[in-house]
Amino acid sequence: MATQRFDAVVVGAGFAGLYMIHLLRGEGLSVKGLERAGGVGGTWYWNRYPGCRCDVESLDYSYQFSDPLQQEWVWTERYSAQPEILAYAEHVATRFELRPLIQFETRVTSAHYDEHTHRWTVATDKGDVFDTRFLIMATGCLSAANTPAFPGLRDFKGRTFHTGLWPQNGVDFTGRRVGIIGTGSSAIQSIPLIAAQAADLTVFQRTANFSVPARNRPSDPAAVARVKSNYPDYRRRARQQAAAFGPDNPRGLDSVLAATPAQRQRRFEEYWQLGGFMFLGAFGDLMLNEAANAYAADFVRSKIREMVKDPQTAELLSPKGIIGCKRLCADTHYYETYNRANVHLVDVSQHPVERFTTRGLVAGGVEYTFDDVVFATGFDAMTGSLLRMDIRGKNGVSLNEKWAAGPLTYLGLMIAGFPNLFTMTGPGSPSVLANMVTGVEQHAEYIHDVITWLRKENANAVEARIDAERDWVQTVNVRSQLTLYPRCNSWYLGANVPGKPRVFMPYIGFPDYTAKLDDVRAEHFAGFELQR
Ligand code: FAD
Ligand code: NAP
Repeated sequence: MATQRFDAVVVGAGFAGLYMIHLLRGEGLSVKGLERAGGVGGTWYWNRYPGCRCDVESLDYSYQFSDPLQQEWVWTERYSAQPEILAYAEHVATRFELRPLIQFETRVTSAHYDEHTHRWTVATDKGDVFDTRFLIMATGCLSAANTPAFPGLRDFKGRTFHTGLWPQNGVDFTGRRVGIIGTGSSAIQSIPLIAAQAADLTVFQRTANFSVPARNRPSDPAAVARVKSNYPDYRRRARQQAAAFGPDNPRGLDSVLAATPAQRQRRFEEYWQLGGFMFLGAFGDLMLNEAANAYAADFVRSKIREMVKDPQTAELLSPKGIIGCKRLCADTHYYETYNRANVHLVDVSQHPVERFTTRGLVAGGVEYTFDDVVFATGFDAMTGSLLRMDIRGKNGVSLNEKWAAGPLTYLGLMIAGFPNLFTMTGPGSPSVLANMVTGVEQHAEYIHDVITWLRKENANAVEARIDAERDWVQTVNVRSQLTLYPRCNSWYLGANVPGKPRVFMPYIGFPDYTAKLDDVRAEHFAGFELQR
């Protein structure tokens, strides 16, 4: 196939890719979008499992770059379900005429930089070759599905599904014996619905996870009207929050350690009733101090004991450790589901899933037989989608080599040695620890600004300086050590993928990160270097 030449190639057509394409086209650049999926939407295209919905409220979890768009779109629920979020992404693609610029069902397999031409050569699984000046990876932090390499998996005669690669037309579990591996957010959302349909559901739990009730409900017209009456101001205030959402949410700023037992109980109960992530805002120090955190964890464990009738099952479902260290889950009747006669919990913390057989799987020496097995086993998060491509920068150095001991970036946006390559919500940016739609908009706008600067300066390429990158990685690391986040085996640390380096990947705190981006811009993009 003949090589096609563009100013910019954007890989991925989720929320990040769509907005990036829109902005670069607006600058008059020739842009090509490449997307593995058959349509737009990214996360919301792939994750069609029952119960899939956002856990950041929809009024926040949506674009803000266009006021007409945010005014006209109607979210029907507090936390909208996957079909509605996908319909929104499709609406955006139509409204801003983005589809003609995107080639679907096309996976990027490699991207190599040429130092002489300052351009990238991008190859795909369809045999295309693209020659581009700028290469923007909008490939997602949670888009590389992780299926553990269980021996014998291929021999299993039943159906298997991964929550992050769910069939387009859904799955009917009626009358079937189903096994599900994992108890993270995807499992916690899907288990109540699969249990209601299947003949029998067995959940294999390696680590119990903390979950709080989402208290999803239809959108409240008065609350929507209030936000929409001054949406830009609401968004501005949201960006000042640590996780870039919920500026009007109540927050306890005082210490749980100073409260009496009765005050603690009352406050936790009040925030439990509010639903969702607000629970961790009940006091100001829950994510800063292990003793403070233990009070919140105890409260949730007491709730689990109230909700789950069988004391042994309740005990197994009660997480040990720090609440919020692994990403908090928000559910609808998750714990109550274990009161159903057709739902069984198998603890695989000590006796792991060993292997698959033709009829099912073996754990702790016992064979469990199934018609269907669901892998709710998560993702090779933050780095997986990048490292699954063969990306090579200056001197042919591969990203896999560069990141062998963990990801290195400047601001989560660029990588020293890889000029003109941008990562959106990459490791080293708030990404998965903040409202991600806001994060992708921030990155799209920043990348747009860096490219505009380069063009104004008549430069050929821009690259992160190695010293700026080193300092930034250090900053991200030191910052995480001030919190409780690094103290558990979470995917934020890469702990869910065997052999992955243990490095805390996201930058904690959206407002400080924004301030840093603003400072860098004010100092003529300090830390970025132009090449002429
Ligand atoms: P994605 O939506 O992941 O899109 C990346 C795209 O890149 C994908 O379509 C993928 O196919 C494509 N791609 C990757 N590699 C290649 C390649 N080599 N070639 C071609 N195409 C490629 N975040 C929140 O803030 N709030 C939430 O409530 C929330 N809920 C979530 C629920 C689920 C089930 C999951 C999995 C994640 C959730 N997230 C949430 C995180 C979510 O991923 C982001 O909010 C957001 O959708 C990311 O958008 P993106 O465009 O950066 O990445
Ligand atoms: P996850 O949080 O990584 O959970 C994966 C689960 O699979 C964990 O319980 C894990 O156990 C288990 N597991 C992995 N390998 C296993 C093995 N070999 N044997 C047994 N168990 C194994 O993945 P996820 O649930 O897909 O969620 C990922 C992220 O996507 C979330 O944290 C969130 O950011 C986002 N998400 C959000 C929502 C939402 O509510 N909006 C919904 C879904 C996903 P261990 O804990 O022991 O590793």
